[in-house]
Amino acid sequence: MPESKIIIAIDGYSSCGKSTLAKQLAKQLGYRFIDTGAMYRAVALYLLKNQIDIHHPEMVAEALPFIKIDFSYNADTQTQQTLLNGENVEQEIRINPRVASVVSDVSAISEVRRFLVKQQQELGKEKGIVMDGRDIGTVVFPDAELKIFVTAQPTVRAQRRLDELKAKGQQTTAEEVLANLEKRDRIDSTRADSPLKKAADAIELDNTHLNRQEQFDLVMTWIKQLKQTGN
Ligand code: C5P
Repeated sequence: MPESKIIIAIDGYSSCGKSTLAKQLAKQLGYRFIDTGAMYRAVALYLLKNQIDIHHPEMVAEALPFIKIDFSYNADTQTQQTLLNGENVEQEIRINPRVASVVSDVSAISEVRRFLVKQQQELGKEKGIVMDGRDIGTVVFPDAELKIFVTAQPTVRAQRRLDELKAKGQQTTAEEVLANLEKRDRIDSTRADSPLKKAADAIELDNTHLNRQEQFDLVMTWIKQLKQTGN
């Protein structure tokens, strides 16, 4: 393990298993885990619930001061819950198909990004954090000691996401899931503000043929190498 605390930035396409990896690393290192996708999803949910038209960025900007996002951590189950203005919305932001369908348009709004990036940078001030998202290594923490860019074949990602949704009791099809993933990846990679891209100094991790344990073991070897080189 590195002696001093570091920041681990994990970026990549939708449903690549970024959060799974981030959680495993945070647990192993005793670090805090932050899933920034949950923050964008929570903002999207607030806008939907309050019928704020996401195609009017100025109306969205006016709503932002009324949005408070917190995370609560359950040490027993090692799970993290997302709170939107004090209400636990963890389940809803993951399974509500309306959230999945608008979140990438919401996250392309610069005011929303500025609002959330500031909070994310604040959370990482003390280091000792594993954060996953789309712009962590490029915008939120450009000086992170370890940056990982995760990819996997789209059909493999869609199958993993489908399994996850089914396990949560959601009825959907492989085609619908794949279409949503591809749409989000397209919007996320082509937006003007902070598009999803690999940071020049990020390590690419294609996990198409890796299981969770293999992926975790591989990344732990990178972290040990960092320690040897004095991170
Ligand atoms: O990670 P997750 O799939 O939950 O993220 C949902 C959406 O939030 C992404 O498709 C993307 O549009 C947006 N997002 C972002 N920047 C981040 C994290 C997520 O734009 N750092």
